Amino acid sequence: MKKDTILAVKDLYVNYYTYAGVVHALNGVSLEIYKGETMGLVGETGCGKSTLGHAIGGLLPNNARITGGSITLDGEELVGRSPEEMRIIRRDKLAYIFQNPAAALNPVMKVGDQIIEAIMVKENISKKEARERALELLKKLGIPEPEKFYKSYPHELSGGMRQRVMIAIALAKRPILVIADEPTSNLDVTIQAQILELMENLKKQFHQTTILITHDLGVVAQTCDRVTVMYAGTIVEVGSIYQVFKNPSHPYTQGLLRVVKFSETRSKLPTIPGTVPNLINPPSGCIFHPRCKYAKAICKKMKPELKEIENGHFVACHLYDNV
Ligand code: SF4
Repeated sequence: MKKDTILAVKDLYVNYYTYAGVVHALNGVSLEIYKGETMGLVGETGCGKSTLGHAIGGLLPNNARITGGSITLDGEELVGRSPEEMRIIRRDKLAYIFQNPAAALNPVMKVGDQIIEAIMVKENISKKEARERALELLKKLGIPEPEKFYKSYPHELSGGMRQRVMIAIALAKRPILVIADEPTSNLDVTIQAQILELMENLKKQFHQTTILITHDLGVVAQTCDRVTVMYAGTIVEVGSIYQVFKNPSHPYTQGLLRVVKFSETRSKLPTIPGTVPNLINPPSGCIFHPRCKYAKAICKKMKPELKEIENGHFVACHLYDNV
């Protein structure tokens, strides 16, 4: 573990127990998040990125179990904690920003009071001090007329403004780690751009450590320092934005980036052949092998490990076995 590692996930396995069978949602996921960085977690729907985000904060649904591995936040092991212990860890160290702020906000409480509550739940300060801090935070968030905004109820605000409240609540308690799960996907493009710009400014101002979960590689390129690409419950590539976008090395990442390029050039639509595998009966060996044009015999037998192919750039693919 590096000195400035805030979060270390090691060899994490998560299953969902469903009527159809056991869904192997995360299969040996390992990941480190460093202080002050924004890590993008990308992949198609069902690749396990939200499961990982929920597992970190003990927010998995009742039919899910962590069956192996470890999650260390700020040096503290989280796997095996009771729901009450996880509630305290979430309160003191973590903050989530979800896709649908309307569902996460209290509809009968003024937004200012919700921000104050987030500040006071962790810190023993007076309401007056908390109010001053909340107003200061709203100013830093670039909210016009913060006093008026402070007294509003969530239903009086637009979707973009509600998402700003969620960000304010998340930052108010000064968490060690923010997990933003598709924070802009319900917003129209202009508001989306404003929220992304806001998140970027906040990173500069607060040096906040953030995991940004998204299916949108454009969002990742704009806001993240590093990116982790997930496919069918496994991590297939990790690196800096420059490394992964300039030199995508896993065949799946290459396919994802071709799709992004299509939307830029409007050329012939490229697709990754095949479909995402059924995680009740996942393919043997490399889980991507049924869709991979480079698959060789070993790919069906052996799961590739993440290997460092250049400084800080990791890929799980047998093509790099001899590198
Ligand atoms: Fe393709 Fe084999 Fe690499 Fe998997 S390990 S991505 S099947 S080449």
